[in-house]
Amino acid sequence: METYDVVVLGAGSAGEAVAVETARAGRAVLVVEAARVGGECAYVACLPSKSLLRSASVRRQVRAAPEAGAASIRPGLDPDDAAWAVAIARRDTAADHRDDTAVANALEKAGVRILRGRGRVQEPGVVLVDGTPYGYRDLVVATGSHPTRPPVEGLDDVPTWSSDEALSAPDRPERLAILGGGPVGCELAQAYAGFGVRVTVVEAAERLLAGEHPRVGELVTQSLASGGVDVRTGVTATCASRTGDRATLALDDGTDVTADRVLLATGREPNDDVGLPGLGVDERCRVGDGVWAAGDVTGVAPFTHTAKYQGWVVAGNILGETRVADYTAIPRVVYTDPAVACVGDADGPDVVTAEADLAETARAQWDGTTCGWLRLTADRRTGTLVAADAVAPHAEELIGFATLAVRAKVPVRLLAEVVHPFPTFGEAYTEVLRELAGRL
Ligand SMILES: Cc1cc2nc3c(=O)[nH]c(=O)nc-3n(C[C@H](O)[C@H](O)[C@H](O)COP(=O)(O)OP(=O)(O)OC[C@H]3O[C@@H](n4cnc5c(N)ncnc54)[C@H](O)[C@@H]3O)c2cc1C
Repeated sequence: METYDVVVLGAGSAGEAVAVETARAGRAVLVVEAARVGGECAYVACLPSKSLLRSASVRRQVRAAPEAGAASIRPGLDPDDAAWAVAIARRDTAADHRDDTAVANALEKAGVRILRGRGRVQEPGVVLVDGTPYGYRDLVVATGSHPTRPPVEGLDDVPTWSSDEALSAPDRPERLAILGGGPVGCELAQAYAGFGVRVTVVEAAERLLAGEHPRVGELVTQSLASGGVDVRTGVTATCASRTGDRATLALDDGTDVTADRVLLATGREPNDDVGLPGLGVDERCRVGDGVWAAGDVTGVAPFTHTAKYQGWVVAGNILGETRVADYTAIPRVVYTDPAVACVGDADGPDVVTAEADLAETARAQWDGTTCGWLRLTADRRTGTLVAADAVAPHAEELIGFATLAVRAKVPVRLLAEVVHPFPTFGEAYTEVLRELAGRL
């Protein structure tokens, strides 16, 4: 039996991070991958979705040229279907045409052996890949997650898409119903609506992005609605039926939605069927003796940056260091326009909050931004920042300052003295932090 120092199940963002670092440190590393080396992010998740959002956003910007003083008349744009063809070509290039050769070559160059197949633990110290056993000293489970299928009667009879399928298919349905108003539902709603697709989002919770502060959901609803998306919150699809090529969803408020496709965006669950009794991880991402887990499969903050971070934690621990995962400041980003970026936990027992309307900043005035919000939360007992929520153009960049502050537990009074460039959205931090400092 071939035996390795480290066997990694899954070559996504988490698996790659572990494999590269441990191989570079001289360990014999085998990565077992059932589908594409590189996992979901590059091919059917983060990159293709961001590429489509960018194409849709530039179309909106071009249409807004007269307001920006860039044209005296509204510039003519390709019709939606011609533009869609170009956007899809760009999306597919961003996703390397779902071809993993380059990523696999890079991994092999780092000294990792790649084995195509599905791995499963046969007994402690041994994984079975398509009938062949491989020995390991350390096993890393980095098998990711898969989309859930909501229990809606009749769903199997209508044309549906998972996000993986939506982000691989060339289709632009005339009407798209999206079940689920979380990050994936909101991003894909805006991307498709940007190309003339009539999109309806159906969300059972009272608002979009229900895990975040209500103001976040309100602003994203406004933004999607201004792009023509029909947002229905507080309603559940009870059954689906087919008429010709179309799907009709009956909702529990007595209304219905008819669409050419139903995109299922109701969440994901871990790929944890790997022959182990459980995959609960401790603070070092350790499952048990010589067994580790990283990425979506752990169920912790399912983002690529978490997967890479946990991969780094696992690699260090395998190599004999002590790396402890700290999740207090994992940013949660939705790349709509404006984007949403939140970090930390605002629900502590003794917290104070302050906020600013970013549409009133000098930055918003010169670049024509009409909607934005920043809320900061500090802990009175420690005098430090514990959470930040931002809705703004490129909020994903704006959140970096707060992320560092939350992670490093920087005192609010010191943060309030930091000078930000004028005129930026970041400048709003100063006003909000000074207010917080005065209330500590
Ligand atoms: C539409 C969409 C957009 C997203 N956008 C973002 C974003 O902008 N930013 C962000 O941070 N996150 C984003 N995410 C989340 C991000 O894609 C995931 O958090 C990330 O890909 C998780 O990485 P991973 O390594 O845990 O899993 P994966 O990338 O899924 O890799 C797991 C790999 O394991 C393989 N595998 C599974 N079982 C086995 C087995 N038994 N044996 C061998 N191989 C196996 C799978 O084939 C897969 O390749 C998005 C997700 C979606 C769905």
